Amino acid sequence: MDKTHIDSAIDAVLAAAEAAATDAGDLADAVTASEAEDGALSLAAEEANKSLGRFEEALSSYRRVKAKQTWSMFDFVDARPGRPDALPHGGTKTWRRRDVDRLLGFAIHHTAGGDDPRKTAAYHLGANHTSSDGMPGLAYTFFIRKDGAIWWAWDLDMATWSQGGGTVPDADGDGDVDRADGLGRANAHYLAIVLGGSFRSRWNRNGGTPTFRQLLAMQVLIGHLTGRCSADDIPRELFGALSHLSTGDVWPHSAFGKAACPGEGVETLIGLMQKTYCANGSVWSDGEWQRALVKLGYDLGGWGFNEDGVDGQWGEDSKEALVKFQRDRGLPLTAHRDRATEAALFGRP
Ligand SMILES: [Zn+2]
Repeated sequence: MDKTHIDSAIDAVLAAAEAAATDAGDLADAVTASEAEDGALSLAAEEANKSLGRFEEALSSYRRVKAKQTWSMFDFVDARPGRPDALPHGGTKTWRRRDVDRLLGFAIHHTAGGDDPRKTAAYHLGANHTSSDGMPGLAYTFFIRKDGAIWWAWDLDMATWSQGGGTVPDADGDGDVDRADGLGRANAHYLAIVLGGSFRSRWNRNGGTPTFRQLLAMQVLIGHLTGRCSADDIPRELFGALSHLSTGDVWPHSAFGKAACPGEGVETLIGLMQKTYCANGSVWSDGEWQRALVKLGYDLGGWGFNEDGVDGQWGEDSKEALVKFQRDRGLPLTAHRDRATEAALFGRP
């Protein structure tokens, strides 16, 4: 595992947890202040304070783990059918095959329950809440346990029935959840990763936060799959297998529609992680992308210190300029800072 990459992944998890704790603190303060006038704290204020406590607890445990951790930590279990550690599978159904090169991103789930991949797989195999006659097995490609162990359930080209719903995430950033038709299908075009545990809601006393190792393993797995950083403990054959994706192409299940998965607690963290380590999945910062586009004459508005559009905030003007650049160069119009666009803009292979 490359030290620089693992350090930035660790920093990103910590930064995300710190921001989430601050966020929860602000919320708790605001609710408490508004309630204090009436003399009695409502359930909402109590829950807000509990939520703050949970984030603070998570943060200090993350810090403790960071302080003593040596980074050979990712148990990786090849649990695909036919392997000695195969998860329960079979049934009468099979997953559809998909074109791996056409995957659009990663979808993050929680089990809303336990941390045992065998039990979750057995549950999916039997009659369950989405299928009365069962599924072919675990409905996710990867399962990440609380201890950071990654279980690999299916080949990447198996379209597990994970996301459901008729919508896919707001990839073009216009604020709407996009209709699945045209832009991609929720299951065929998104690879599902599940974290063991229930992070249902920060208002819910059963909610919780993922462990540091889970978040780190999630980032490192995505970094490995997209070819951004290689982890010794993850099979070589998976390195760069999805190199057309960036580490920022990560969505909570809830971005696909109505599901309250993986829960507010982890969604806050995923959102923040997208902006830090996962930012654009590029070695170049937001500001560097902007500067490169401005240099080529693209109009990013009058933002920033020099009023030339370079302000380090990847907003609407930047996105529009990126799409124009992609169109001008005959690149796929992804609206993402993908590898092809990065190579065209920065002249790297
Ligand atoms: Zn889910």
